[in-house]
Amino acid sequence: MHSPKQPRILVTKPALPDMDSYIDYLRGIWERGQLTNNGPLVKELEIRIKDYLGLKHCLVVSSGTIALQLALKALELDGDVITTPFSFVATSSAIAWEGCRPVFADIENDTLCIDPDRIETVLTEHTQAILATHIYGYPCAVDSIQDLAVKHQLKVIYDAAHAFGVNYRNQSLLNFGDISTLSFHATKLFYTGEGGAVVCNDDYLAERIRRMRDFGINGPEAFYPEIGINAKMSELHAALGLCVLSGVSEAIARRKAICSRYDAALTGRLVRPVLREGTEYNYAYYPVIFASQAELQHVRDALNEVSVYPRRYFYPPLSRLDYVGQYPVPLAEDISARILCLPLYEELDEEQIDMICSVVLRALNNYSKE
Ligand SMILES: *Cc1c(COP(=O)(O)O)cnc(C)c1O
Repeated sequence: MHSPKQPRILVTKPALPDMDSYIDYLRGIWERGQLTNNGPLVKELEIRIKDYLGLKHCLVVSSGTIALQLALKALELDGDVITTPFSFVATSSAIAWEGCRPVFADIENDTLCIDPDRIETVLTEHTQAILATHIYGYPCAVDSIQDLAVKHQLKVIYDAAHAFGVNYRNQSLLNFGDISTLSFHATKLFYTGEGGAVVCNDDYLAERIRRMRDFGINGPEAFYPEIGINAKMSELHAALGLCVLSGVSEAIARRKAICSRYDAALTGRLVRPVLREGTEYNYAYYPVIFASQAELQHVRDALNEVSVYPRRYFYPPLSRLDYVGQYPVPLAEDISARILCLPLYEELDEEQIDMICSVVLRALNNYSKE
């Protein structure tokens, strides 16, 4: 057991909003007596997210995973979907769950996003779509991916679970591709507890997803023109989201300051993924790349010793899942074995950041002497 003086520092911790602001929303819910079914708070959250990020359509749903499933379903995909091996499991599992086949293309060694040249080498006549992740909120090669999509008539879905608040070339990164999906899980920068959203520019697609998330209902008379599912967000989750959204700009600013402090101590000692030029980052994650898996494990053990628990986002590569085909992805294999996300959340104070940095640096020095 660790001493109570030393609280565990995890990779992330939700900065809970002021409870009174949440209770104010709850009072409204109690007065109206409406807990779900596209209530006023869900509608308000959708409008405020669209305004904040500059989006055309944003449909909030009950999770980031169901957002991916709805995207695949709404685009009527049932064949091969080229995807990245370096992401959270939901990126691959949603493809397989929807009856499609995940085909893996290796990643770029600097941005760690899917490599468009590799996409081209695994393309076949069965390929219907590309599902790429803006990993850590780092933008994919959206132009090259778009060129491939046009050339081969493919749909493009971005798993943008990490990309809330990221701008690329002066607009939200969520505006690229046919559909982008968000996760509002508690571990994400903007959260509703559980939740997510589907973002798109196409009116028809948006209408379709709006119906699909609500059993396929097309109006108050409840007729069902096509298959749907229950992916609705509740008013209780939307209320939390409205409170969290009010503080999200401040959260990004605070995270930026923490990242600068990490940079000042660690630059030159650890490799970092490369952010594409023209990106305004959201500071959602602080990934660092070690020289080897053994070095990573040595540093992680030293951090665990002092109750600091970074996470291996994302290990192992998804091409190792039992229910997918085998594809050689040597870069994803190599990077995922050597990458670690350091703790990053608004409450982390300077003393804690400095402590983490000094433990990392000391462990790196010890390791190189071994
Ligand atoms: C969190 C996450 C998801 C899944 O979102 P949930 O809201 O937890 O269902 C999907 N993809 C990526 C890359 C994620 O990090």
